Amino acid sequence: MAGAQPTCSRCIMDSTVPGLRLDAQGACQLCHAHDRLDRAYFSGQDPDKKAAFLATIEKIKREGRGRPYDCILPLSGGGDSSWALVKAVELGLRPVAYHFDNGWVSDIGRQNLATMTSKLGVPLKTLSVPWEQLGDAFRACLEASIPEPCLPCLVAVFSLAYRAAEIEGLRTVIFSSSPLTEGIAPLGWSYVDGRYLESVVQAHGQPATLGAVRDFNRLRARNLLAGALVRRTRVIMLPLYLEWDEPRFKERLRSEYGWIDGGKHADCIYTPFRTQLIHDKFGFDLRRLGIAAQVRAGRISRARALAWFDDNPMVEDLENRERVLARLGMSAADYQRIMAAPPRSFRDYRTYYPLIRAMRPLIRQACKRGLLAEHVIDKFED
Ligand SMILES: [Zn+2]
Repeated sequence: MAGAQPTCSRCIMDSTVPGLRLDAQGACQLCHAHDRLDRAYFSGQDPDKKAAFLATIEKIKREGRGRPYDCILPLSGGGDSSWALVKAVELGLRPVAYHFDNGWVSDIGRQNLATMTSKLGVPLKTLSVPWEQLGDAFRACLEASIPEPCLPCLVAVFSLAYRAAEIEGLRTVIFSSSPLTEGIAPLGWSYVDGRYLESVVQAHGQPATLGAVRDFNRLRARNLLAGALVRRTRVIMLPLYLEWDEPRFKERLRSEYGWIDGGKHADCIYTPFRTQLIHDKFGFDLRRLGIAAQVRAGRISRARALAWFDDNPMVEDLENRERVLARLGMSAADYQRIMAAPPRSFRDYRTYYPLIRAMRPLIRQACKRGLLAEHVIDKFED
């Protein structure tokens, strides 16, 4: 399928990844990063890692004694977060679900939020950023010509989860995403930090939007340090530790909870819009990330994954594009102008990237001492 272009012999990542490196066996650096994560976290049949994970869960329960809840669980209504809610309850945790309304939640997503929380008896709270500012931040990212149109949402999801932890006086946030299940985005495909978003909004957004972003942004260096050292916020990506078999858990969600499957990311109508935009403008297919993760985990064969892309060419959902543009207050001509603008990247904006690069020796030491997750450094190596 990739012709003469180099493709990883183990997963399906190819030369659309800037700086793809293959080892002597033909495996790429993202496969190596996957294996390091798998060894560090995934318990599988390893009794020691399983015991360590359950000990952490018990600690969270002890910390929550005398409080109405013991952890925050960000819930989108999609399959992964709905399943994380089920698993958290099965583990005996008492989560409070927090939904971040990013302005793009579909009707199915909204229905699933209500169904899952009421069936599991978990309270549901919502945090949002006024659409006037959030929509403007999304527009700014499009005008900025960067391959991260979802940057406002990514920063907000983490920020508002931290804020929820502050509001509830809790240390633990349980996330339903992980690089083991969703894939490892190479640096050239996706870069996220709080300073990046502020820089993009400053260049292309309204002044009031910058104020709103500064207000919710917890992905600034000082907030991250305060979160790690003072509040000691604990982030647990559940799929790093547990078997995460999507077809199987979706079946259980449907049959036992009445959850509705609207397809991948039906909980957010912006996701298919940005996947198409990135494909057409930046020349890479974000769907490869998740499929590559499934191949690495042995859930589907490499041959089947490659055939899937042949059978599922990117076909634009024009109706969805119109819906998204209307909500952003943009015209078809605006869209054409954005698509024609030369692609830019995080390197064209102010970010923490130079600081992270400079601190690599320190970060590597912290990884060795177990203070930081081992994979943190991987992304910044190229
Ligand atoms: Zn690979």
